[in-house]
Amino acid sequence: MPAVSVWNKCNNRCIMCTNGKEYSEGPSDQYVLRKQIEKMERYLKGNRGIFYKGAEDPRYITLTGGEPTLHPDFMKLLRYYRKRCPDLEITLLTNGRTFADETFLKQYLSIIRTPARTIIPLHSSDPDEHDYIAGVKGAFNQTIKALKSLFRFAPPGHSIGIRYIQHGTGKLRMERTLKFLLENFPNTFAYTVAIIHFEIEGSSLENEKKLHISLKDSAKEVLAAKPLIEKFPCLYLYHYPLCVLEPSLRCRAKITLPEEERVYPEEKCGQCCRRQDCVGLMIDYNRLFGSSELETIKQ
Ligand code: SF4
Ligand code: SF4
Repeated sequence: MPAVSVWNKCNNRCIMCTNGKEYSEGPSDQYVLRKQIEKMERYLKGNRGIFYKGAEDPRYITLTGGEPTLHPDFMKLLRYYRKRCPDLEITLLTNGRTFADETFLKQYLSIIRTPARTIIPLHSSDPDEHDYIAGVKGAFNQTIKALKSLFRFAPPGHSIGIRYIQHGTGKLRMERTLKFLLENFPNTFAYTVAIIHFEIEGSSLENEKKLHISLKDSAKEVLAAKPLIEKFPCLYLYHYPLCVLEPSLRCRAKITLPEEERVYPEEKCGQCCRRQDCVGLMIDYNRLFGSSELETIKQ
C-alpha cells in the first residue's frame, strides 16, 4: 500500500525538511477529502501508478505530508482509510505537536484503532535546539507532551516510533538525545528508534551547507553512541551504507529508501559481498559528494 501525502502544509519549518517550497507553499486543492478518497478508490481498483511511493507493498499504508493531522478533515479521512482497509497497519508520520491536545489524540486513537503505528521525530534533548531544528518555538514541549500521552493512551497493537535525524547541527546531539530517551522513556521495549542520516532534497538541499555532515562522520557519531544504542533493542539505522558502519552496528541498518532513490557505484559496490542487504548511496548524496567514502566489503 502506498505512502499517501495527506496534506501539504505543516506547522513546523524544519531545517532538514525534504519537502520543497513548491509543495509546502502550493495550493492544497488536490488533498481535500473528496480528492483523497477518489485517489484511494482508484488505487484499490488496481491503478497502482497513482501513488509515487510504496504502491506495490501490500502490508501497510503510510500517511505523510506536510503534517497529516492538520488536514481539515483528518478524522474523517482516517475513518475512511480504516473502513476501507480494516486489517491493514496504518502508519502515521507526524511531528506530533497536535497530539499535545489530549482530546485530539484520544479521538485519533479511537478512529485509527489497530494495527497502527505513530512515528514522531525528536531532534534533541535540549528544547532550544529542538525548536531551532523544527523552526518553531515551543515545538519541543508539545512533542514531549504528545509522546507522554501517546505512551499512556495507545492500546496494545499500536506501535510507537521515535525518529532522530542526523545532520551537522549540534555537538554530540545524537548521544544527548538517546540519553534523554533513556531517562524519560526508559521502557525501551515499548518503542522503536530510527537514527536517520538526513536526505538532501527540498529545504535540506537549500540548507545543505549548514546541515552538512559526511556519511563517514555521521557513522563516527553512531559509533560514539554505541554504548547507548545497545540499550535500545529496536533501534535501527537508516540511509547508512554498510561499509561506513562499524561491523557490529551493521545489523541495525535497514533499507528504507525505494530503489529509484539509491545507487550502487560500480567502482565500490560492483564486487561487494554485502550489496544485497545494503542501502547503497542516496542518489543526491552521490551526485554531490561521490563514492569516495565507500569501501568494498570482500567477505
Ligand atoms: S520535516 Fe516534517 S515536520 Fe518538519 S517541516 Fe517537513 S513536513 Fe513538517
Ligand atoms: S561498497 Fe556499496 S554495496 Fe558494499 S557496503 Fe559499501 S555501499 Fe554497500
